[in-house]
Amino acid sequence: MNTLLMIYTKFYLLLIGFLIIRGTESTGTCSKKSSEDCASSTSNGNKYSEEANGEFEKYEAIIDAAKREYEPCTDNICKCYNQVISKDLKPFRSGINEESIRNIKSKGTKYQIIDNKLYRENDCLFPARCSGVEHYLLKLLHKVNNTEFILNTRDWPQIFQHHGPHGPVFSFSKTDDYLDIMYPAWAFWEGGPAISLYPKGIGRWDQHRKLLGQVGNETKWNDKMSKAFFRGSRTSSERDALILLSRENPVLVDAQYTKNQAWKSDADTLHAPPAPEVSFEEHCKYKYLFNFRGVAASFRLKHILLCKSLVFHVGNDWIEFFYPFLRPWIHYIPVERDASKEKIKELLEFFENHQDLAQQIANNGYNFIWNNLQLKHVDCYWLNLIKRYTKLLKYKPTLGEGMKEIVGK
Ligand code: UDP
Repeated sequence: MNTLLMIYTKFYLLLIGFLIIRGTESTGTCSKKSSEDCASSTSNGNKYSEEANGEFEKYEAIIDAAKREYEPCTDNICKCYNQVISKDLKPFRSGINEESIRNIKSKGTKYQIIDNKLYRENDCLFPARCSGVEHYLLKLLHKVNNTEFILNTRDWPQIFQHHGPHGPVFSFSKTDDYLDIMYPAWAFWEGGPAISLYPKGIGRWDQHRKLLGQVGNETKWNDKMSKAFFRGSRTSSERDALILLSRENPVLVDAQYTKNQAWKSDADTLHAPPAPEVSFEEHCKYKYLFNFRGVAASFRLKHILLCKSLVFHVGNDWIEFFYPFLRPWIHYIPVERDASKEKIKELLEFFENHQDLAQQIANNGYNFIWNNLQLKHVDCYWLNLIKRYTKLLKYKPTLGEGMKEIVGK
């Protein structure tokens, strides 16, 4: 009797084991992947439902379509950037008169180039930002003459399409709702946000580019941590979803708020103590890096693209002059600004399981910035912008009262 019971028990356990193995195979990703992929996903413990497989196929199709449709600008990049200048100057194509400048004078700082000398009104709201811009303007003095313009050094653009005064105002960043004319931000040279690691303010893009490009190339993809990473202050609540996901799932995401100058209490860091700041180079240790808008576009994007990590760019409305040439799914992964924690998790899981695609897109992002965003391109953008803007002036500016000459340092 006992022997019979033992035989039955053994048979029963074998049957259960067999059913468990079959069940795992039919619900895992293996059925739709090669046996090699299947082995790797089994060994690292990543298993997804049929539903996740459906989402994965959707992302594969989106990436394929993006590749098919992508037509890079094959001209010299400086000529490509001219498309942005054309678009921004279009509202002023019938010409700019003195009155339209007077109407928007309070929106920024007035600059003039008269007799090959640079002048600025005495007050500048953010002196380091003016200085960062003047570095470029001083280089133009023998190439453009007799011009004047209003340059906004605030983060926020000034000329709302739908109401308020219209006129040509230069701003570093905008959305489609604004008619501001974009110029390359001061922070390419100086005047960027001052944090403890960059106490003089983020600037000298030439130096950051060189260092980050080197770190990006030296840090091999497989040596990077398979984790999403973000450090920054709460300049926009659009960052909250990732911070909260990180608190819930610190294995998947390390995203924490740091202090900025406006920080008063933990409430400003979403009820957690502020995290220490992390250098751009340290960001390169992670496979997945997040970028968000701040007050306007964040300077972070061009830096983190040089890490050769996969950049997740949240929201697509705030731009700088070079953004239109960066394409979703080609150079970065677009994330909706109100994406839920689940959606973010799904995207990260997709790329964890498609490392080849992740690496390809990371390399594309790096290549675009490395090749097409050098200081010489910033120089040529400024030159084309001021030349083309000046052609639209219907009058010959004369030196204004109270203007002070700006000379090189
Ligand atoms: N930053 C950084 N390490 C940090 C926090 C911020 O390098 O730990 C950089 C960040 O990439 C950005 C700048 O400091 O270029 C300001 O970041 P913050 O998030 O405060 O404001 P944002 O300009 O992005 O709105």
